[in-house]
Amino acid sequence: MDYHCCPECGLHHIQQRKTAQTVGQVLGAVGGIAVGMLFPFFGNKLPIPKLPQQVYQYITFAKTGSLVGGEIGMVIDEHLLNNCVCMACGHEFKQRRYWD
Ligand SMILES: [Zn+2]
Repeated sequence: MDYHCCPECGLHHIQQRKTAQTVGQVLGAVGGIAVGMLFPFFGNKLPIPKLPQQVYQYITFAKTGSLVGGEIGMVIDEHLLNNCVCMACGHEFKQRRYWD
């Protein structure tokens, strides 16, 4: 069901919650850094100090991880959690898709 107003009181004061998405992004970023540390460092040949390159690699992994984690979290939000709340009556309900 796609609601653009509250199914309880019919008002449009709906706020979307992205709980699992936010959690997924954070966990994904942390997981990405962990994976980045496990991976062999592959930038050794360049005549640049090693540390900034390593940091850059971690950031790249963290970014990818947070993207993937956010996607997974979005699915959890949509299917498992009440991801919308009515600001007028406090009714919580599920919304299949986010809208911005
Ligand atoms: Zn309501």
